[in-house]
Amino acid sequence: MKYDVAIIGGGIVGLATAYQIQKLKPNTSVVILEKEESEAQHQTGHNSGVIHSGLYYKPGSLKALNCIRGYEMLLKFSDDNGIPYDLCGKLVVATEKHELSQLDMLFERGEANGLKGLIWLTAEEIKEREPHVTGIKGIFVPQTGIIDYGLVAKKYRECFENAGGEFRTQFKVEGIAKSGDDWVIRDGNKEVQATSFINCAGLYSDKIAALSEKELDVRIIPFRGEYYMLSERAQHLVNNLIYPVPDPNFPFLGVHFTRMMNGHIEAGPNAVLAFRREGYRMRDIHFGELIQTLQWPGFQRVVAQYWKTGMGEMWRSFSKSAFTKALRKLIPEIKKEDLIKAEAGVRAQACERDGGLLDDFRIIERPNAMHVVNAPSPAATSSLSIGLTIAEKWIGIVKET
Ligand SMILES: Cc1cc2nc3c(=O)[nH]c(=O)nc-3n(C[C@H](O)[C@H](O)[C@H](O)COP(=O)(O)OP(=O)(O)OC[C@H]3O[C@@H](n4cnc5c(N)ncnc54)[C@H](O)[C@@H]3O)c2cc1C
Repeated sequence: MKYDVAIIGGGIVGLATAYQIQKLKPNTSVVILEKEESEAQHQTGHNSGVIHSGLYYKPGSLKALNCIRGYEMLLKFSDDNGIPYDLCGKLVVATEKHELSQLDMLFERGEANGLKGLIWLTAEEIKEREPHVTGIKGIFVPQTGIIDYGLVAKKYRECFENAGGEFRTQFKVEGIAKSGDDWVIRDGNKEVQATSFINCAGLYSDKIAALSEKELDVRIIPFRGEYYMLSERAQHLVNNLIYPVPDPNFPFLGVHFTRMMNGHIEAGPNAVLAFRREGYRMRDIHFGELIQTLQWPGFQRVVAQYWKTGMGEMWRSFSKSAFTKALRKLIPEIKKEDLIKAEAGVRAQACERDGGLLDDFRIIERPNAMHVVNAPSPAATSSLSIGLTIAEKWIGIVKET
């Protein structure tokens, strides 16, 4: 069978894209090709489960636009499909004076992105909301919430399959070639023929892009995010979501406390270079992938720029005491023995050849092909909006050819 479009990758972005294509053009034949046994086995199934409000992102960026629109779409989809979520709000807390200007900047960004009801908190007001947190000033963001993105992805898949879409598992794309006007996409001797394809392969999106692109100016750098779970004894120390002020020189949010939908409290994630793209443990190494990362000129620039922060993150990854110390800045009562190692996640962060880490989402458009080469956080929150953006662009690229 020949399909109108093949989507590579059954994470939340691939699934949302498929769902939106079906909505925009109901008679389109769509297949999702996924290398694992089911959907959402990588970033989508290993994240913090936060519904981001849009506080952090540069106004007008794809992240800001898609997060704000995607937030509303996600809540509506969840309401319509009985997916539980909790808009519990979050605190961003400054613990040192030098963080105050960055906190001001976040407040301004939040307002510029249209967030309503942001509240400045004094040290006492922080304690009224989170009695065990010590800070000098904070922001309360009422829109932020929590959800289980694994469940969301499962529902996207269900809707997609109910509308006639095909989700093929254990299909690891290894080759993409032109055959006349069509694409032939291969896993060993299995093949799928499609008029167009969309690459949503997350941690391998650059590798998939390289199968049909001569020159690619981005590479995925995998950053592992490690978590600890708070022991039962320590759970009362956290009510909802507590974040530090992010380091403006680093594209990650800093280790925070998150109440998950299953009731656990998680602390993390840090951000350390993963020595394998799907390397969830420190000892997971793929020498080929690691060497390619180290040789990438853009990554060498990142090392030159962030080596100090990076070393700190590495140290906190090796040493539980150092990780505890970082958390104690927010909650001084946390003890090392309160932290139980939990599952890690790996972020797919694109890095430009001659630049640094890409801040915004990036989608490459080609005749009858598209590549989503940067969809890090908040792409889970934004998924239905990114999916719609891609679906609209897809209609454009198939019309042109
Ligand atoms: C630690 C961590 C915390 C995060 N926290 C949040 C948060 O709180 N809120 C938020 O909004 N976002 C968060 N994010 C970001 C969010 O999880 C990701 O942006 C989102 O899941 C990306 O979805 P995706 O579909 O692009 O990638 P993925 O979920 O990784 O899916 C890509 C899929 O492609 C498949 N694939 C790869 N190669 C091939 C191949 N050759 N053939 C076939 N299939 C292939 C993979 O198996 C995978 O299923 C977090 C991410 C991480 C890692």
